[in-house]
Amino acid sequence: MVFINTRQIVYCRGNLDSKEIALTFDDGPCEPYTERILDILERYNVKATFFMIGRNVEKFPRIAKRVVNAGHDIGNHTYSHSSLVLDRPRKIAMELEKGEEAISCSTGVSTRMFRPPYGANTRWVLTQALRRGYVITKWSVNAGDWGKASAERIAKRTLARVGNGAIILMHDGKNHRGNNHRWQTVDALPTIVEALKSRGYGLVTISELLDLK
Ligand SMILES: [Zn+2]
Repeated sequence: MVFINTRQIVYCRGNLDSKEIALTFDDGPCEPYTERILDILERYNVKATFFMIGRNVEKFPRIAKRVVNAGHDIGNHTYSHSSLVLDRPRKIAMELEKGEEAISCSTGVSTRMFRPPYGANTRWVLTQALRRGYVITKWSVNAGDWGKASAERIAKRTLARVGNGAIILMHDGKNHRGNNHRWQTVDALPTIVEALKSRGYGLVTISELLDLK
């Protein structure tokens, strides 16, 4: 049995001494939100990280490719976004492998990072992800961009919590249970990016934040 100290192997933030922050978007790609988010990131010339669901990549392969072509980081967020909490190794392995396959088929690149759905980093999930060489990343700031949260509230909540090395969790897509739209995330993004830039933060990908070679 492998003993896993989750504090050592799950990254939730970068270096506290460096004035850098990573924006991350989960559960996409998803029309029309991902494309609007890409437009905004391009307008402000910043890079972000997208944790994609394999099933959504199969649905929107062109958008997944656009994310990669724009120079953003991508990560595996499983194939179907089912909760892995109660799952055994074989099911977890299948979710990781099918997710990876969907992403590499559509984008031509493979992923190095993994974020478990619902942040569920159980021992089996971690073991299976580490066995495949994934860097496991969660977040330090949850933008709370679900349900009925307004763009103003999302921006305010996020900006009140950020600091050096923060990893911000936002969403560009819907998971299998979700039926809410993502316009509030799209609308909050310019405010968040402008405020972080004016505070002197560099907005970087997770690879840059964690200095992954
Ligand atoms: Zn998710």
